[in-house]
Amino acid sequence: MNCRHCKAPLRLTFIDLGTCPPSNAYLKACDLNAPEIRYPLRVLVCEQCWLVQTQDYTRSEELFTQDYAYFSSTSPSWVAHAARYTENMIQRFQYGPGSLVIELGSNDGYLLKHFLDRGIECLGVEPTASTADAAERLGISVLRDFFSESLALKLAVSGRQADLIIGNNVYAHVPDINDFTKGLKQALKPKGIITLEFPHLLRLIQGAQFDTIYHEHYSYLSLTSVIQIFQAAGLRVWDVSELSTHGGSLRIYGCHAEDDRPESPTVNEVLSEECRFGLRRSETYQGFQAHADRIKDDLLVFLIEQKRAGKQVVGYGAAAKGNTLINYAGVRADLLPCVCDAAVSKQGKYLPGSRIPIVTEAIIRKKKPSFILILPWNLRNEIMDQLEYIKAWDGQFVTAIPQLDVV
Ligand SMILES: [Zn+2]
Repeated sequence: MNCRHCKAPLRLTFIDLGTCPPSNAYLKACDLNAPEIRYPLRVLVCEQCWLVQTQDYTRSEELFTQDYAYFSSTSPSWVAHAARYTENMIQRFQYGPGSLVIELGSNDGYLLKHFLDRGIECLGVEPTASTADAAERLGISVLRDFFSESLALKLAVSGRQADLIIGNNVYAHVPDINDFTKGLKQALKPKGIITLEFPHLLRLIQGAQFDTIYHEHYSYLSLTSVIQIFQAAGLRVWDVSELSTHGGSLRIYGCHAEDDRPESPTVNEVLSEECRFGLRRSETYQGFQAHADRIKDDLLVFLIEQKRAGKQVVGYGAAAKGNTLINYAGVRADLLPCVCDAAVSKQGKYLPGSRIPIVTEAIIRKKKPSFILILPWNLRNEIMDQLEYIKAWDGQFVTAIPQLDVV
């Protein structure tokens, strides 16, 4: 396989997580009698442009099915993040009536509704029907498609270039990152701004966040790699901020290459930190598999010990990252009998691969388990506050990453 960005041959493996089904392919009871398709989950490093990427094997259309169950508005902390972002952008760049904001991967409209409330024209681009329906119910126009250069050209021709293009947690999920980035160029007004948020590869390596690797997540991005991808598309990164979301993310600010706005010193600061850490050296990527294996082994030992001691463990949060960890570790319902999730669209279904049932939170009050294994560790504090009542029976919280932690 060659690099999705610079086409250099890929020879360095970052991690090999075996095979697993797409992480969002939740099963219904009737699917349990059928086999599941498993795909290899291997991540490679380009030693030329340092883009870290999943191995090719399938098309995005197969992964993002019409039933795709993730609704952004089910996470209160993410919704609050969206409200803060909107305020910040409106204050900093003075958007108002007459501006056009386009969000790529607009999901259920959890973000654009804040712009709409301020009288700013919005357009969402979202291929998933169930979330696009929800956004339209809020009054947001949605183009039901994957964003690409050809879609962006159609927008430009119809006079719909944006003052602000937003891509929150969508850039890493794009199979053809060059085409998507050329689309950003086409859909942007001459003085427009792009903001993209994505989990920072640097934090992924530092925090051993191997469970954030799944098939739909094609790229693991650093500022080092994104700057090169932007340059090749006639764009430029002029500012960057570090965010705590998803275990440590970057929000990059882009503009046309010919836009003369000054570059913020933080661009060089983040680039230097990446360089010092070694993101441009092959050795930096070579110890990651062993680190992930230690975490997997510790979780398995913990679950087996609790089973032997007759103590119950219940999972919380049927997120994509939980599926990577559970499937890689080979955990099944004998070790983790169920996982609770607040999303009604997931309840009553089963996790892909492990086939662990997804249930409502009511089971925790009913069964009073000794331990709650929090799978989306990035929401750990929010979930611990919400489930504080388990302290009534001396229940404890467990997270597996960056190391097994029981509190
Ligand atoms: Zn490359």
